[in-house]
Amino acid sequence: MLEKGPEHKRGGNSFFTDGAIRFAFNGLEDIRAIMPEMTDEEAANIYIPPYNTTEYLKDLMRVTGGKSTPELAEQLVTKSYETIAWMKSHGINFQLIYDNQSFEKGGIHHFWGGLPVKTENKGVGLIQHLNARAKQLGIEIWYESRAYKLCKENNQIVALPVDKEQFLQTIKKYNDSVQEGSYNPTEKDGKGTKGITPPKSNWALRIEKGPFYVFPVTCGITFSFGGVHANSMGEVLDENREAINGLFVAGEMIGGIFYGNYPGGSGLMSGAVFGKLAGTSAAEYAIRRVTVKK
Ligand SMILES: Cc1cc2nc3c(=O)[nH]c(=O)nc-3n(C[C@H](O)[C@H](O)[C@H](O)COP(=O)(O)OP(=O)(O)OC[C@H]3O[C@@H](n4cnc5c(N)ncnc54)[C@H](O)[C@@H]3O)c2cc1C
Repeated sequence: MLEKGPEHKRGGNSFFTDGAIRFAFNGLEDIRAIMPEMTDEEAANIYIPPYNTTEYLKDLMRVTGGKSTPELAEQLVTKSYETIAWMKSHGINFQLIYDNQSFEKGGIHHFWGGLPVKTENKGVGLIQHLNARAKQLGIEIWYESRAYKLCKENNQIVALPVDKEQFLQTIKKYNDSVQEGSYNPTEKDGKGTKGITPPKSNWALRIEKGPFYVFPVTCGITFSFGGVHANSMGEVLDENREAINGLFVAGEMIGGIFYGNYPGGSGLMSGAVFGKLAGTSAAEYAIRRVTVKK
């Protein structure tokens, strides 16, 4: 395997993720199957609504404005759970996303949004475990090795300096702009702000009671949303939509799945589903070639 970066920077964008990973599941039993360490006591204190393939597909189509290529979308959604189970079998551990995908009501943690799970220790843990498994399997990784050509044969912060007066003014202005309404973190509750720019559309609560946490915020590129055409087995397609012999693709390099937006957690899932499929296709291709040569 070739990796352009040096070993100490390995993991690409995946390293920096929250590790949130979206898959279809029929109920808590499916979640417990990939988190066998979950105790009955923990299970009794959580509520995770099922998130089936139909809902996943609907979310994918909704956020992409209906543009996601049907056969790729279908593949991502229907293969998501088996791929998660396969990842678990290769030593990837999972955790519930208590912090931003659940809220507590009556002593029960209610999960929402079809995204209850992340990889243990976020993207950092995912990359650690993937690399450990690759090593066990004897997969060789060449670092600082950029693929540049296709050969064809036959074809966290603890203190932040702020202007106190300005800060207090900003908070007051924000608090005054918060509209009345009922706060509901499970849906777009329409409880927004009025008179500030940019406005907040939902979930606006007054900042009144400490402790307060301050985070510096910056823009980032989640991913490019572009890439090469591929079929549902991860084979790259040419301009006539014919599979190019011996050329396979996975992860963000696949075009046609996400447009404009993506259901959070589907980037890693897509990488895993198509990584597995493309890997299988490539291995089958290599075996066929060896067999033919013999
Ligand atoms: C801050 C942030 C948070 C995110 N959080 C989430 C999340 O919680 N859940 C989620 O599903 N998605 C999340 N995403 C999106 C997610 O990061 C991507 O969908 C995912 O990482 C893509 O995986 P990948 O393997 O395709 O690419 P990458 O993980 O970026 O890996 C690409 C690798 O290829 C190497 N490379 C590039 N060019 C070459 C070359 N020519 N030769 C050899 N090697 C090369 C790079 O160095 C890199 O190591 C997040 C993105 C960002 C930026």
